[in-house]
Formats: sequence, structure tokens, C-alpha cells
Amino acid sequence: METKGYAVPKANAPLEPWTFTRRELRDGDVGLDILFGGICHSDIHQAREEWGPAIFPMVPGHEIVGRVTSLGSAVTKFKVGDLIGIGVFIDSCRRCENCLAGLQQYCLGGMTGTYNTYERNSTTVAMGGYSNKFVIDQDYAVHVPENLALEGVAPLMCAGITLYSPLKHWEAGPGKRVAIMGLGGLGHMGVKFAVALGAHVTVLSHSPSKREDALAMGAHEFLVLDSDDSFAERKRSYDLILNTVSADVQIEKYLNLLKIDGTLVMIGLPSNPVSLGVGTLIGSRRSLAGSMIGGIPELQEMLNFCGEHNIVSDVEVIKPQYINEAYDRTVSSDVKYRFVIDSSAY
Ligand code: NAP
Ligand code: ZN
Ligand code: ZN
Repeated sequence: METKGYAVPKANAPLEPWTFTRRELRDGDVGLDILFGGICHSDIHQAREEWGPAIFPMVPGHEIVGRVTSLGSAVTKFKVGDLIGIGVFIDSCRRCENCLAGLQQYCLGGMTGTYNTYERNSTTVAMGGYSNKFVIDQDYAVHVPENLALEGVAPLMCAGITLYSPLKHWEAGPGKRVAIMGLGGLGHMGVKFAVALGAHVTVLSHSPSKREDALAMGAHEFLVLDSDDSFAERKRSYDLILNTVSADVQIEKYLNLLKIDGTLVMIGLPSNPVSLGVGTLIGSRRSLAGSMIGGIPELQEMLNFCGEHNIVSDVEVIKPQYINEAYDRTVSSDVKYRFVIDSSAY
């Protein structure tokens, strides 16, 4: 299947137009036209080899929404014309205890990413969502509600699920005080979900210009790191803090904001290790945790929740020619709040 997209030809090089071939449909495969593809900061980390050596040419992109155009002979989950969503992985072992529990992102054999890896049991490099067509095994795609603005749906497939999953796992809801660190692509979805779940929500940001937006999204408080006196006054205030910051932060400072038995969940993934004095944990029986995207059943649950609550990402829709500029603007925290590529323009 001939596919047009944008690829990173080699490490640190700008993206450029690239045409490539996707596999013919297997029995369980679905073919689709991509409508919109989101730009996640993880794409930038990988395109710039901030997470170690990568595979080039690389077509990044793991926030995909499209419409089904063709079906393999064994497909029962989708029909032609259905809206379909694809996220951060396209396969897993299907047999380990985590896969059987619907937690494919934690597959003991390793999930197969949407790009920058080889397709499972294959020498073909997986190519991601900065492109106009896709082929996916039906078991690794989900249904998208018809009532949502589609450009705002694409980021749900990574940014959305990555915040929905820990909010549900650590039971954000009425009576819980939740803080979201970083109001970027992930963080703004965290605000929307935590508000919809009924929690009291605070944004901890280093960008004073985002205050009004955060409050418009439903946040109850907005605190600016280091320049806001009230930041220090929030010691022992939160049940749950979700760290979505893409850069290094002094994590102890934030741990101090947790109540007794509170949890700080690491979600942002900069390349350097974190150091902390463990007294900050011990002194208030606090937990430091991590969380990665969500499995297929939870992805579907999240999209259904978005359909019911009319939740989508706030996006800036761009043409593919703008991707390189969008990367630079994302790195400087200058996006409201996710870049999404119009896939009809490749
Ligand atoms: P993003 O849109 O660039 O947002 C990151 C936010 O972090 C920025 O908007 C900014 O918020 C804050 N920030 C950036 N630089 C900062 C600095 N120097 N100091 C303090 N704050 C800073 O990125 P994203 O797409 O949301 O991704 C965020 C991180 O999560 C990335 O590292 C990504 O790889 C990772 N990620 C993890 C998972 C997972 O499953 N765990 C999934 C997807 C992505 P303010 O302007 O409000 O301060
Ligand atoms: Zn992502
Ligand atoms: Zn598995």
C-alpha cells in the first residue's frame, strides 16, 4: 500500500517528505485513511535520539485517528467507514499475564511500538502516524465515538490515555486534591479528565501565560513554579501529583507538596536519572510511582468517557510542511496545547 508521509532521515535531521510502502492486509488487519495525527513530545525525544539510538528513516507519530477503508477476511471488530483510533503500540505477545489482563503496554515480552521499532517477528520497520494511510491488526485499534471533533481526538490516543489511566488507577475523584505538573499536551488532558472525574485540580506550571487557559479548562488553581509564594504554602496539600514535564525537575520540591500517603506519578520521560533524598518519602509515607499510557480496554473506556463528557484535546491543526517548526515550538512550551497534522495534506 503506497503511503505518503514525513520522515526523519537520520538522527537530528529535520523531517522531510517521504513515500513508502505498507504491508498488504493480513486476515486480521484493517486498512485506514489517516485523518489527523498528533505530535507528542515522545516523537521529538526519539527523532532527536534523546532516548538512545533510534532507527532511521523514522516516520514518527502515535496519535492516530482515521476511517476504515478495507478489511482482512477475518475482521469482525470494524466495518468500512468506521472511525478508528491507534495509539502508542501496534502489537504485543498476547500471551503473558499482563497482555491477558488487557495491560498490553506492560507486555512481558515488550510491546511493539507504533514506530522506531521492528514489527513483531519481522524485519520490517514500523512506520508511524505522520502519514496518510495505515494498516493495523484489529485487536490493537479502538472505536472512536462519532460525536467528537476529530482533530481533537488524535491526541487522546497518547496524551489522553496517559493521563486518564493514572487518574483512574489512583482514584482521582470527589474529595481528592490533584496537581498536574506541566500544562502541555499531556498535562492539559490531565486537567480535563481530573475535572470531569470531580477532583479538586491545581496546575503547577513554569509558564505564567497559561493561567487563563488552565482555569478555562476547569482547573481550580494555577501556581507558577518559583515565582509564586503560594507554591511554598502548598506543602502537604495534595493526594496525587502527576508529573508530565518533559524536562528535568527537582522532584523533592514537588514531593513535599504531597499529603501523608500521597503519590507522585512520573509520566514525563527526560533522559537523565532523578536523584532525591528519601527522607521526603519516609517522613510522610509518600509514594513515588510511574505510569505508561494504557492498555486496549482502557483506551476504549477512555474514548467512551470522552464521548459522554465531550472531551477532546485543544489543538493547533497544521500542514505537514510545518512539522519542523512545530517541534521547536513544542520544545519551548509554545503550543496550545497539541499540534495535530492534517493528514489530507501529504
Ligand atoms: P509537551 O506538550 O512539550 O509538554 C511538556 C510541558 O512540560 C510543557 O508544556 C511545560 O509546561 C513543561 N516544561 C517543559 N519544559 C520545562 C522546563 N524546562 N521546566 C519546567 N517545565 C517544563 O510534552 P508532552 O507531549 O505533554 O509530553 C510530556 C512528557 O511525557 C515527555 O517527556 C514525553 O516523552 C512523556 N510521555 C510519557 C508517556 C507515558 O506513557 N509515561 C506518554 C507520552 C509522553 P508548562 O509550560 O506548564 O510549565
Ligand atoms: Zn506519546
Ligand atoms: Zn504480553
